[in-house]
Amino acid sequence: MTPLPLREIVDALERLYPPYTASSWDRVGLVSGDLDQPVSLVHFAVDPTLAVIEEARAAGADLLVTHHPLLLRGVHSVATTSAKGASVTALIMNHIGLYVAHTNADAASPGVCDALASACALVDVGPLEVVDGVGHGRVGSLERPVTLRKFVQGLSTVLPKAVGGIRVAGPADALVARVAVVGGAGDDFFDAVRASRADVYVTADLRHHPVLEAREEARGGTPYLVDAGHWATEWLWLQSACSELLRELAGEGTSLNTHICTLRTDPWDFVIGATVSANIGGTS
Ligand SMILES: [Zn+2]
Repeated sequence: MTPLPLREIVDALERLYPPYTASSWDRVGLVSGDLDQPVSLVHFAVDPTLAVIEEARAAGADLLVTHHPLLLRGVHSVATTSAKGASVTALIMNHIGLYVAHTNADAASPGVCDALASACALVDVGPLEVVDGVGHGRVGSLERPVTLRKFVQGLSTVLPKAVGGIRVAGPADALVARVAVVGGAGDDFFDAVRASRADVYVTADLRHHPVLEAREEARGGTPYLVDAGHWATEWLWLQSACSELLRELAGEGTSLNTHICTLRTDPWDFVIGATVSANIGGTS
């Protein structure tokens, strides 16, 4: 069997994750590579870091598919004097194509948010919000109500481990049944979460002011908030993307091999001073 040209893999990825569904500010699609180059091994990762590119190179990958863009904002140089430049140079010198599916993969079904909904064991899943015909986020139900603590403990068993763990705002023993999810940074969706009448909202990158204000508005009630980590909530999609690509290309007589990144690209390395006390306590 002969390797597929990059163009056929790009076509398949764009059927799965149509670029027109990406947000207007986003930059998705092919970043490096020649559409005629043969592809035998596709490497999937959340972030196109230098270490990930090196892992792809060492594995012999011809194409790296990532969720996050390498070049979201303008650059004026791809010299190795910057990390972005070193990344582009490493990709090109090693003949590795880079393809990005970002907000179009968030919106796709199955996509990033479906993978997170599945990790939360949700049923009757639908979009959290529909804008211009594109569904964003997901909301669904648990088979039966469980405590907030038990729900998050269950989620932690299927998420990859990150140093920050999972942060929860809400009473541990409250029963939850309806769950909204948005993979990655989701603090733009609080209004949609409230409208969905979700008991709990699982997302990431929840900042002090939006979270405190959301908890104040809830007067201690629902929706409770779960910050499950940006990288961890999006990492779940890699297996889905890999399976979907192979399914999309099945029947083309391809010998395509795939590999999922083994590196944790969550940037945090350790925590100190985590506490569960509501009071600061005396310092003298
Ligand atoms: Zn993200």
